[in-house]
Amino acid sequence: MKIGVLALQGAFAEHIIMLSKLGVETAEVRLHAQLDDLDGLIIPGGESTTMGKLMVDFDLLEPIREFGLGHAIWGTCAGAILLSKDAHREQPLLHLMNITVERNAFGRQVDSFEADLNVEAFGIDNPFHAVFIRAPIIETISGDTKALVTLADGKIVAAQEGHLLATSFHPELTGDTRFHEYFLTLAKK
Ligand code: GLN
Repeated sequence: MKIGVLALQGAFAEHIIMLSKLGVETAEVRLHAQLDDLDGLIIPGGESTTMGKLMVDFDLLEPIREFGLGHAIWGTCAGAILLSKDAHREQPLLHLMNITVERNAFGRQVDSFEADLNVEAFGIDNPFHAVFIRAPIIETISGDTKALVTLADGKIVAAQEGHLLATSFHPELTGDTRFHEYFLTLAKK
């Protein structure tokens, strides 16, 4: 099992640390040839417009899109935006998941916050402590996409479509490896 982390910009080092904790072989991805021997790819948080433009400049946008047709990809925060089919702005996107997102959806007053989330896949009574930083919400899902995590007010903050996973928050910033372990189950399929 080898998982790549897109390393153009943003919080890629933290994902590498989490994966290493789980004993997984990792690679920082900057060239499309580095996708060849991967079982899955993580697109980290950062700034989605910048990361998208860098993906274009590094000739990675189309190769990652093709990779995602047959392999697991997990986008956290800016990465979730890049997986979406629409973010209501002019910016390069992968258009891989049937989700639309609203960027910076929690407004300036609460641009960062933490919350304990109930994740059905992890069982009740075992909340996942999540960090949101200028986070998007997943405003619509369609097709085969399912909502994995919903806030009390109904906002969707994690979604899955087959082997593709999107989270609004940053599981790489807490010590809790459960989302990384969940992603590995998608990469194994
Ligand atoms: N606000 C950023 C964007 O819209 C995402 C923030 C993050 O990845 N923590 O691209």
